[in-house]
Amino acid sequence: MRQSKLFSKTSKTSESGAKSVNHDLLARAGFVDQLMAGVYSYLPLGQRVLDKVSNIVRQEMDEVGGQEISLPALHPKENWETTGRWDSMDVLFKIISQSKSEYALGPTHEEVIVPLAKKFIFSYRDLPASLYQIQVKFRDELRAKAGLLRGREFLMKDLYSFHASHQDLKDYYEKMKTAYLKIFSRCGLKAIITEASGGSFTKEYSHEFQVETPNGEDTIFYCPCSFAQNKEIAKHKAGDKCPDCGKKIQELKTIEVGNIFDLGTKFSNDFKLTFTDDKGKEDLVAIGCYGIGISRLMGAIVEVRHDKDGIIWPEEVAPFDYHLLSLTDKGEEVYDDLVKAGVSVLWDDREDVSAGEKMADSDLIGIPNRLVISKKTGDKIELKKRDEEDVKLISIKDVLSDK
Ligand code: ATP
Ligand code: MG
Repeated sequence: MRQSKLFSKTSKTSESGAKSVNHDLLARAGFVDQLMAGVYSYLPLGQRVLDKVSNIVRQEMDEVGGQEISLPALHPKENWETTGRWDSMDVLFKIISQSKSEYALGPTHEEVIVPLAKKFIFSYRDLPASLYQIQVKFRDELRAKAGLLRGREFLMKDLYSFHASHQDLKDYYEKMKTAYLKIFSRCGLKAIITEASGGSFTKEYSHEFQVETPNGEDTIFYCPCSFAQNKEIAKHKAGDKCPDCGKKIQELKTIEVGNIFDLGTKFSNDFKLTFTDDKGKEDLVAIGCYGIGISRLMGAIVEVRHDKDGIIWPEEVAPFDYHLLSLTDKGEEVYDDLVKAGVSVLWDDREDVSAGEKMADSDLIGIPNRLVISKKTGDKIELKKRDEEDVKLISIKDVLSDK
C-alpha cells in the first residue's frame, strides 16, 4: 500500500482525552480514532491489526474444535430476566424501543447461546459442542479512560463449550488454557494464568490471563514458580511466603486479556438445557465460557511493546511486514517487485515529507522491518528492525527470499 494514499495520517499532537499510552500512540500513529469515551473507530492500519489478532484467535479456537458462529448483539429482556442478570449486572446497557419493548445490548452471550443450544442438543451424541464468535460487545463501564483497554463498545471472542459430564468440561478447560497461552505468545505477550473469582458468571472460580505492565488496572500476587492470584480474591498478599515454593510473593500491575470460566450447570439450569445420557437418564449440560478481549489485546500489545518513539508491533500482528521508505525519487520499482512477490509492504512514497519525518513516522507506526532507499544505499537497501539498533545493507533478493 502507498502511504500517500493511506486514509489516516500521523500526528505529533495527542488526541484530546488520550489518557493512556495505547490510546495516545494508536491515535497519533493513525490506527484508531476516538468517537467518545470508550468508543473507537478503527482506521485501515488498526483494522489490519484487529484482523490479524482475530485470525490468530480463530486459528487456535478452530484447533481445539471450535465452530465459528455469529450471534445477535440485540437481546430480548426476557432472556436476561431468566438468568437474573437483567437486574444484577451493573454494566448491562438497556434499551427501550418506540413500542416500549425492552432490550439489552449484549455484554456477553450466555443468554443467547444457551437457548440456541437447546434447539440442537438433546442427547449425549450431540455432546461435546464448542461454539465461538468474534463480535462487538457493549458494557456500560463507569470509567472508560484507558483507551482500547476498557471500551463501552469493544471486540471480544467468546467461546462456549457444552459437555455431558463435569469431568469432560474440566478436560476441555485445560486444553483451552494451553490454546490461550499460545494465542498470547503469538501476539508477543507473556500471559500469567491467574486464579480469580467467577465474577457475575458463576460463584465458582475462574482463570484470568494477565499481562504485566505498569499501567495495568489489575493487581495480582505472583510467584515465578507459577502461583498467581488476583488481588480481589487473594488469600495471600505481597511479601507472604508462596504456598507452592516458599519464596516471597510479588505484587504486579497487570491487564486482564482473557478469562475462562467453569460455569457448571448455572445457565443450563436457568434455561433447562438437558440431554439424555447413554442410559436414557436426563441430566443438565455442563457449560464452559472462554473470553478474550480482542481490542483490549491490541491495546495491551501497545502498552507492553513501545518505546519513546512509538509502537513496536510483534511480527504476527503488525499491519505490514515491511515499511519501505523512499528518501530519493527511487523506490517504485522495488515496491512493485515486493508487491508482485506477495510481500506485505507499506511504501512511504510521500513527496513533500522530509527524511527525518519519514523515519519518525516509521518508528511511531512500528512496522517490524524498515527498508530505506537513499542516495547512500546505491543499488542496495538498508534494513533495520524496529526493535534493534543494527542497520544492514541488503539486496531486494534477500527480502524476497526471507518472505
Ligand atoms: P474487567 O474486570 O477488566 O472489567 P471482566 O472481568 O468484567 O473485565 P470478562 O467478563 O471476563 O471481563 O470478559 C472477557 C474478556 O473481555 C476480558 O478478559 C477482557 O479481555 C475483555 N473485556 C472485558 N471488558 C472489557 C472492556 N470494557 N473493554 C475491552 N475489553 C474488555
Ligand atoms: Mg474477567
